[in-house]
Order: sequence, then C-alpha cells, then structure tokens
Amino acid sequence: MAQATREWFEKDYYKVLGVSPDASERDIQRAYRKLAKQNHPDANPGDRQAEERFKEANTAHDVLSDPAKRQEYDEIRRAGPAAGMFGAGAPSGSGFRVDDIGDLLGGLFGRATGRGRGRGATGAVGAVRGDDLETELHLDFDAAIHGATTSVSVVSDVACHTCHGSGAAPGTSPVICPVCAGRGVVDDNQGFFSFSTPCRACRGTGMRVETPCPTCQGSGIERRPRTVKVRIPAGVDDGKRIRIKGRGGAGQNGGSAGDLYVVCRVSPHELFGRRGRDLTLTVPITFPEAALGATVTVPTLSRAVTLKVPAGTRSGRTFRVRGKGVAAGSAPAGDLLVTVEVTVPEHLSDEEREAVEKLAAASLESPRSYLGKWIDAES
Ligand SMILES: [Zn+2]
Ligand SMILES: [Zn+2]
Repeated sequence: MAQATREWFEKDYYKVLGVSPDASERDIQRAYRKLAKQNHPDANPGDRQAEERFKEANTAHDVLSDPAKRQEYDEIRRAGPAAGMFGAGAPSGSGFRVDDIGDLLGGLFGRATGRGRGRGATGAVGAVRGDDLETELHLDFDAAIHGATTSVSVVSDVACHTCHGSGAAPGTSPVICPVCAGRGVVDDNQGFFSFSTPCRACRGTGMRVETPCPTCQGSGIERRPRTVKVRIPAGVDDGKRIRIKGRGGAGQNGGSAGDLYVVCRVSPHELFGRRGRDLTLTVPITFPEAALGATVTVPTLSRAVTLKVPAGTRSGRTFRVRGKGVAAGSAPAGDLLVTVEVTVPEHLSDEEREAVEKLAAASLESPRSYLGKWIDAES
C-alpha cells in the first residue's frame, strides 16, 4: 500500500507539475522532465526558489508516476480531509497515524483563521512583519539619571541594497504570479471542505521573481550591521526596556518592520544605590553624634545638603531628603534615603578609652534589662 502523508491533503501535485488531473502518464512524464530541467540545482546554483520547485516536482512525480500511489492520492483528494479525520481512529487504509490528526486539524483551522493575518500596510498577501530585535545598552549611572542620546549597533535582516527588497535582479521586476493570478492564495476544494492555501509558486506574495537578484538570491533580504540612534530618557533604571518602533528586522513582501527593544544595563554608582526613583546612601556617624545629635553634610547628585541628626538616633535609622532622588518623565523626583550607621572605632587612644570608661561607669541602666525575666526563668 502506498504511504499517504499529510502533504497529500495540502499539495496539489497536478498543479505542481502544471498538468490537469486527468493527464496521461506521458503528459506527467513530459511535464516533470521539463520542470526538473528548468529548476535543476546544477543549472540554478544558489537559487533557493528553483531548488524548492525542483524538490516539489520530484515529490509530485514520485506520487503521480506510480499508478497505485496516484490512485490512492486521487481518492484521498476526492474524499477530502474529512476522510482522514474520521477514519483515523480505527485502523483504516488511509495510512494515517492518530497523532497526525491534531496536526491536520491545526493545519486546517490554523490556515482558515490565519488568512490575511500577514497583510501588511500595502495590503499585499503574504506580507510578513519583520522580527522584533533586542539588544543591550550599557549606561553609566549618570547617563541613566540625566538621559542620553547614543547609538546601538544591531545586525539584522534588512531590505537588500541591490534590489531594494523586491528580490528581482536590477533591470527586471517581479511579475504577477501565473499560478494564483496575483492573489497569493489558491482555492482547494476537498470534499465538503473548501479552503485557500498560500500559493506555493510565489509563496503567497502574488508576485514571482523570474530573474533573482544576485545579492540576495531573490529573497529581498540581506543581513547587515547597522547603527540605530537611541534616545535614553532621563531616569531609566537598570533592566528598563525601551521600544524603538520600526527599527527591528525588515518586513518581507511589503510587511512592516519589527521593533527594536533596547535593554538598559546601568552600571552601579560608587556611592549611591538606587531603589526605583529613590536614591539610597549610607552615612557613618559617631556614637556622640548619634547620642547628642549633629548636623551632617551629605552629598546628593546635585549639591550637598545638611541633614539634622536628632539626639538619640539609633544606628540604622533612615532619613528622607525630599526631591533629591531621580527625576523620570513627568513624575516628581524621588527622594534621597540616608541611612545613618553608628561606627565603632577599632582602636581607641588612651584619652578615648578613658572617656568611654567614664561613660560606661556612668551608664546605670543596661539596654538588656528587659531580657532579665527570660534569663531568670531559664536558670
Ligand atoms: Zn536583492
Ligand atoms: Zn502565486
């Protein structure tokens, strides 16, 4: 028994060979030989479309030149996809495996609902939007705070510079596809299913390139590095993705270009930390400053400010200096969060030791007195 494949539903092998469904074996042979000669890879080095046509012609010939295969192919095409669907659960003669059915349904309905999805601005059938691209941009802290205009280099598919994306060799232009008459789709009537499939001759473009462009081999696309100017708004944070519309990969067949996403990588500041729009800063203070209170001068991104540390400030307390954070967009600037940390000197001079000992002697109450009842209970 011949081995039917999913492709049998999808491909009209008669159309591939350009013969009618009741063509004789001789007609089929003649049509195949002509196509094979025209599209043979040796005669068309590097021409991917010719290679594709050559392969299709071979597949079509394999099926249609074998009377048994051809008969089965004809039956399946007449019955339509429904035969495959309903017959697959039970072992039938169709040669389908059960797990083909999901594919088949997906293929059918995906195609049905997907019609026209790829239409681009020009309305061309088969228009494909370009890829979205992503690249990283390293910024120093200041550039991220204040904003910057810079550029990134991306390597991507762009419209071929020789043919300007048409795929046709200079001096020639694409012609209307003779198979689909420029519609980009062909209608298939299969049993009670009737659906349009993208035209294979022109890959849904509706146009056919007869003399492919030597630079891009007819694809209309080439890979090139290019530089894209990027305006970084003030206040971007590490990890921020900036979308630059239309600067991604080139579209095909009149499809619009994709977008370029620039991911900001902001290097840390040697002093300030960042939490959203707030800046953070840790400032050491002495025990006397914490105990007695002090006025401490702290830097900001602009000019220094004085911070009043009240008497009795504990280590780790955070003070908010309003408006000294990061300004981003129209939102009000964030704050500077100053955390004071009481430092303990590693070495004491004799004089300091004497003073601290005096303090210890004068400190009547232990800060751990509240632990007393737990300590007593345990002993
Ligand atoms: Zn080209
Ligand atoms: Zn076509």
